[in-house]
Order: sequence, then C-alpha cells, then structure tokens
Amino acid sequence: MKKILYLILCPLVLLTACGKKQAVVSRPPFCSDSAYAYIEKQMSFGPRVPNSAAHMQCAVWLIDQLRACGAEVELQKGFMPDYRGANQQIYNIIGHFGTPETATRPRILLGAHYDTRPWCDEEADYNDRFYNVPGANDGASGVGVLLEVARQIGLKEKLSTPVDIIFFDCEDMGTPGVYTGPEREDTWCLGSQLWATNYSRQPSAASYRFGIVLDMVGAPDAFFPLEMYSTTYAQNYQQQIWRSAEQLGYGAMFSSQQSYPITDDHYYINYIAGIPCVDVIHYDIRNATGFPHWWHTRKDDMSNISRSTLQAVGEVVMSQL
Ligand SMILES: [Zn+2]
Repeated sequence: MKKILYLILCPLVLLTACGKKQAVVSRPPFCSDSAYAYIEKQMSFGPRVPNSAAHMQCAVWLIDQLRACGAEVELQKGFMPDYRGANQQIYNIIGHFGTPETATRPRILLGAHYDTRPWCDEEADYNDRFYNVPGANDGASGVGVLLEVARQIGLKEKLSTPVDIIFFDCEDMGTPGVYTGPEREDTWCLGSQLWATNYSRQPSAASYRFGIVLDMVGAPDAFFPLEMYSTTYAQNYQQQIWRSAEQLGYGAMFSSQQSYPITDDHYYINYIAGIPCVDVIHYDIRNATGFPHWWHTRKDDMSNISRSTLQAVGEVVMSQL
C-alpha cells in the first residue's frame, strides 16, 4: 500500500528547471517522502538500542524491506567486546543487489548504522544522560535514505554495478560519558569492525570499488564537510561525490571545507577492510563543538528531519550508482 502511495507522490525521473546559463541536469530518481516515511517507521519502534525489543523488531523490518526491494539478504552475526570488555551481540544486515551477469564485478558498498545510542551524553543535566537517544538523525536518517535507494534499485531495469547495502549494528555503543571505569579503545562502530575483520580474513570475498557511509543526513541545516579519514583513504571518491553534489546544486550543503577525522563506520572499512570509503556526516566546523545541537540528546527527533536534505543526499548517492 505504501509503495503505491510513494509512486504516486514521486515521479520516477525529475528534471531540473534550468536557467538560461545552466546545463540541463538529469536528476537521479529519489523520493524524499518515501525516505521520510522510512525514518518515521524506525522511530515508531522506539529507540533501537542494542539488546532491546525495539532494536530486534527494527532489524526484522529492515530485512523484510530489503527483500521486498529484490535484495538477497544476509544476516551477519557475531560478538564484539563492548566498552566494559563484555561480549556484545552484533547483527549486521546486508542486502546484496545484482544479477548473475554482474556477480564478478567490483561492487559499491553503501552503509549506515541502524542502532541508536543508549545514552544522551550531551544533555546538560546529568540525570538526563541516562535516557536513550531517540535517533531520528543519528541512525534512522542514513538508513531511511538507503532504504529508498534500495527501493529505487529494485525499480531499475538493470544495475550495471552490483551494490551492497549494509545496515551496521552497534555503531553508537562507544564508552558512555557517565562511565568511570578503565577506558578501552575502539568501543565505537562495533558492527563495522566485525564486518571489516571478517571481510579481511576471506581472500575470496567480493571486491569493492568504493563505499559511502551516511550518518546524520537529515537535518534542515545539514553541513557535510570533507571528513579527514575519507580524504586520507578515499580522496578520489570523495572528490567525485562532492563534484556530483555541486552539479546537482547542493554545493552549499556538501562543503569544500576540510574537517577533523571522525571515527565512524567508514574508518574501519578503510583501515581494516582496505576498501576506499567516504563518510557523509553532519559536522559543522563553523560551530565550536562541530556536531549539531541535538546530537546525542533527547532532541534528536523528527522535528530535526527535513525532506529537502534527504532529497539532496539521496540524489547524490543515486548519482554514484
Ligand atoms: Zn551517534
């Protein structure tokens, strides 16, 4: 029912209204109403905190959605040590898109994390830091955009480059600010660490051309700088993606300013798996703190999600396929 609704709302191919001096840009198909609805649906489960019922319900729903778009879905299970050193169960959800003819071609990896942070570390009041982050932007927005990309891939007649869409688990399980025990390293991005470690141990695994990770891609004032790890490991692809954004008219959002390195899922995909991978992440170097005001607070809700930002990010991702 929803699918039909989205099709009515969104013409498959949109053309830009072009000014006198502008060239006609053929816009890749992407429907932000659909991406928005996918974010609302994730929010309806409640915070997708690992080990919770909402997290499991969301995982099952994500698997169903990818299958409905024609993906062959793989559930990667494993354990990683959490910030205390205890075993944390990981469920990465991987949707493989392609045909037997494209099976041997290098693939494109698209990733986002679907878990939400158990602690609101950035709340001013200490007692508020024990709440779960609702995760409309931090988690659901990247997944919502990629579910709509999956739906568009499902509608395509043929896909010349095979694509894997990966929903990583436990990205946001890094050591809580309220924790006073001994510090461990690499407590963030547990799902992508597991995926990248498994990948690097399989010499016969599929090869990837490059990857894109989306994180916090829904805010009305979104600002995506050139993140430093992406520049270090995947500069050509970062330049290519930012050039496409500029051509599509999103040059102000996809800024040419360089940011500090940010530990996100892309880091381990680059560092452990050796796949060039670019992070599209909201990090405003014009602010003192960098991350937006709602980041890791109870305010990370639907009021901070904008359809026009989702549209911009979706088109930029689709332009790379
Ligand atoms: Zn986060």
